[in-house]
Amino acid sequence: MDAPPQRPAGPSRVVVKVGTSSITDASGRLDDARMRAVADGLTALEAATGTTPVLVSSGAGAAGRERLGLVGPLTLPAKQAAAAVGQTLLMARWDAAFPARPVAQLLLSADDVRDRARYVNAKHALQASLQAGAIPIVNENDSVATSELKLGDNDTLSAWVAYLAGADTLLVLTDVDGLYDRDPRQHPGARVVEVVDDLDAAAARVGPSAGRHGTGGMATKLRAARIARDAGIATRILGGGGAALAAVAGGATPGTLVPPAADAPGARKAWIAQQPPRGRVLVDAGAVDALRDGRSLLPRGVTGAEGTFAFGDAVDVVEPGGATVARGLVNYDAAAVAAVAGRHTRDVTEVLGAHDFDEVVHRDNLVVLAAR
Ligand code: GLU
Repeated sequence: MDAPPQRPAGPSRVVVKVGTSSITDASGRLDDARMRAVADGLTALEAATGTTPVLVSSGAGAAGRERLGLVGPLTLPAKQAAAAVGQTLLMARWDAAFPARPVAQLLLSADDVRDRARYVNAKHALQASLQAGAIPIVNENDSVATSELKLGDNDTLSAWVAYLAGADTLLVLTDVDGLYDRDPRQHPGARVVEVVDDLDAAAARVGPSAGRHGTGGMATKLRAARIARDAGIATRILGGGGAALAAVAGGATPGTLVPPAADAPGARKAWIAQQPPRGRVLVDAGAVDALRDGRSLLPRGVTGAEGTFAFGDAVDVVEPGGATVARGLVNYDAAAVAAVAGRHTRDVTEVLGAHDFDEVVHRDNLVVLAAR
């Protein structure tokens, strides 16, 4: 398979996601031996790849409930308290699991991956932690991020962290051996799928499912794998705890692989494609051809603007028939785009009184969505 463009050469970066079930005992308590095994697995991966892995760890909620003696369904504030208390316990245990290394806590919420400036800021924090020699350990900021501020599950978070880290591999550790071809509880002959060729079919077969202690199930794992795949990142879903990580470091291929998309546009463009559009820029047929040939969107090809977008927002680029052909980060706000529509680039200063960019959307900030 061809390497996707924009993938930096050199050693691979691995992001490892552990669910609550991977690091707790049968009663749901954090289990030092299991955490230590994960730490050893990460150390083995570091030795094998030559780069420090990034860990995404759940378990704060479970640890906080346990510490506070909370049982049964919790109110939202009680869940926030459990996360606030549990996160420190979780990190203390991870710190102990890496006696020779500092660990760096990074707590992210949905805005940290949706807002470009915050995304870049989070990326810098991750890189700086790695450069400082620490093992970054990421969780969702559950004590303050609630409802629409949340990504909601750490599987999805781990895919975003793989973007942030510039990873080429995401290892999702869970309490089953991988994705089964049939429900193993009903079909004793069910087998683990080695490679997922058709992610849509696999997701349809799995349906919604949830784990016992965490919020994820196979459905969220496949959703995360899709986000990763579209950014050119391979996802492996595997069971077996930390020992399985050490096995991967040794070249084993346990569990289920969701391969990266061969034509993935790279993490930055995949990020753009995931942004909710704030408006629409209408373009003519000539502009559609130019975009599909990999060129930027110039004022001349624009026929109108819809919505109330600002500089830097994501917009959909819409062809004359009404279909969305691309998504990009726009260089002018909606009123300015409407004003320069159909004009030559050299007229932009005259129309706007200033000329900051030649392009309405630069090709580096543009992802063509539909095939020709
Ligand atoms: N972030 C949550 C925690 O640490 C878990 C979310 C999940 O399990 O997906 O408890």
